[in-house]
Amino acid sequence: MPNIVLIEDEPGIADFVDRGLRARGFDVRVAFDGDLGLELALGENVDLVLLDLMLPGRDGLEVLAELAARRPELPVIVLTARGELEDRVSGLNAGAVDYVVKPFALSELEARIRAQLRASRQTPATVLRRGGIELDLLTRSVACHGEPVRLTNTEFDLLAHLMSHPGQVLTRQQILRAVWGYDHDPATNVVDVYIGYLRRKLAVDGHPVPIRTVRSRGYRLEDA
Ligand code: CA
Repeated sequence: MPNIVLIEDEPGIADFVDRGLRARGFDVRVAFDGDLGLELALGENVDLVLLDLMLPGRDGLEVLAELAARRPELPVIVLTARGELEDRVSGLNAGAVDYVVKPFALSELEARIRAQLRASRQTPATVLRRGGIELDLLTRSVACHGEPVRLTNTEFDLLAHLMSHPGQVLTRQQILRAVWGYDHDPATNVVDVYIGYLRRKLAVDGHPVPIRTVRSRGYRLEDA
């Protein structure tokens, strides 16, 4: 069931879209202001955002710019009045992939949503998200609970390997082969040393770091 975040402050429109999309098989979470909307949109397992522009709190263009910077692969459809659209078209180029002019029919909105979801599924996943960590394989950037984290190449490769196997125990031998290219045991503690580096860098604001030691076996990334 696709997960939609709807950011719209007019209760009548929010209710109409919320009920209409639920009836068509979508899961909808609604925010009535831009701050909560941004928070919901940056949460896990969001497939698409419907965004009004005139919002209390952070306005729609600010939300759009934040989403374009922090989650560029997430499709956004802007819901806008015709006058707003003409005034703000330069802002829309900042990252919105589509827009729907109010008033709109639900069938039109649904068709646009399905088209965006199809397009985003055809893009291979280059961003891994687990346990509060977001790792972009293309740009090789990492954020932990929204805070950018700078990693060395080896640390990045190690984290990418763990995040590609969530919930699985990886032995030191498997990690050495995948990350360092060793096919024999070089009898070093390099894996443990680098896990220590990662844990220190990923310890943000007191959140638990999701890398668990599995005694006498190896390490596991918690799939929370
Ligand atoms: Ca509005």
